[in-house]
Amino acid sequence: MATDGSSPVVIGKDGLDALIATLTGRGRTVIGPTVRDGAIVLAEISGGGELPYGRGVELEAGTYRLRERQDGAAFAHSAGPQSWKTFLHPPRVREWSAERTPDGDLVVTEDDTVAPSYAFLGVRPCDLRAIAIQDRVLTGGRYTDPSYQGRRERAFLVAVECTEPGATCFCVSMGTGPATGPGYDLALTEVVDADGHRFLVRAGSEEGASVLAELPQRAADPATATAARERVAQAADRMGRSMPLVDLQTLMRETLTAERWDDVAARCLTCGNCTMVCPTCFCTSTEDVTDLTGDHAERWRHWESCFDLDFSHLPTGPVRESPRSRYRQWATHKLGTWFDQFGSSGCVGCGRCIVWCPVGIDITEEAHALDRERAARPPDGTGPS
Ligand code: SF4
Ligand code: SF4
Repeated sequence: MATDGSSPVVIGKDGLDALIATLTGRGRTVIGPTVRDGAIVLAEISGGGELPYGRGVELEAGTYRLRERQDGAAFAHSAGPQSWKTFLHPPRVREWSAERTPDGDLVVTEDDTVAPSYAFLGVRPCDLRAIAIQDRVLTGGRYTDPSYQGRRERAFLVAVECTEPGATCFCVSMGTGPATGPGYDLALTEVVDADGHRFLVRAGSEEGASVLAELPQRAADPATATAARERVAQAADRMGRSMPLVDLQTLMRETLTAERWDDVAARCLTCGNCTMVCPTCFCTSTEDVTDLTGDHAERWRHWESCFDLDFSHLPTGPVRESPRSRYRQWATHKLGTWFDQFGSSGCVGCGRCIVWCPVGIDITEEAHALDRERAARPPDGTGPS
């Protein structure tokens, strides 16, 4: 029984059930994909029966549809409307509350509830990279977000390699998938073929190895290992989209005044959906609320979007008043200035912003258009820029 973290093993569907039971038995809240409201969402699950066996998705710009799958696979679907930031960096967090006492004093209580102990089942390689990016942003600098840090330190990550990319996926061109990178406790690759429905599993941490040791398993056979490897390689060949194969940071820097920003601004509703679904967007704002008596007050932190006019509001008004400037801010941050700030791209190629944009704006299409416009400039750079 190989559980030293270096040798893969094979588990069946009963092993997946045992994995959920083991993680729950260790006091963890297991969050995984499940079908709800016509989508594959991330929610608390208590057994393997709640996984989306036999369900896939059809994705296009501005379009998301569930579909049946004949092979009964559990993880053959790409990114849904949520990402794991919903749990690590929740949309709303109460920071403190204040109560006026009968003698008129104000007692302020910070919210220091113990962070939940999550186990995330089904973390895609792109989303594993997104978590690493949020780690860098929220815990890797001079200031640490204690709410994120508490949740993150207690989280157990079960990655699932991608064998079924969507039409809006472009992880290959971002170097984030479909094979999983580091940072997982366990990594699964799902294989369904004539030899059965099974999962190749490897451990990436001590706790991962210890959980794996409790599951019904057998040593990995060559046929399963080869099938798993081939499915991930085939997924890389079936990516729906790709970014232009250029230095995106330079592209963003050299196209700040491109005419294409007017084109996309004419389509963009500045609704902010792309920022809400993006697994790396991290901006927040705070609001203070009181009850009608004025004796109770609370401070809440909530997700904020750079598409919101208030986001850049100064005493003289918003800094980015036009849709052009707001879309450009978002895209150039993701693909360009994120490198300056955090040392990596802010985009992992999950495609969510393409799918959930109500008008189907596609960040890869915009990058290609900017690249074409840059290439079409006269050599002296005096043309449209
Ligand atoms: S790009 Fe799409 S999702 Fe993003 S703000 Fe504009 S309309 Fe909304
Ligand atoms: S910018 Fe779009 S494709 Fe890139 S990580 Fe965010 S949601 Fe995914």
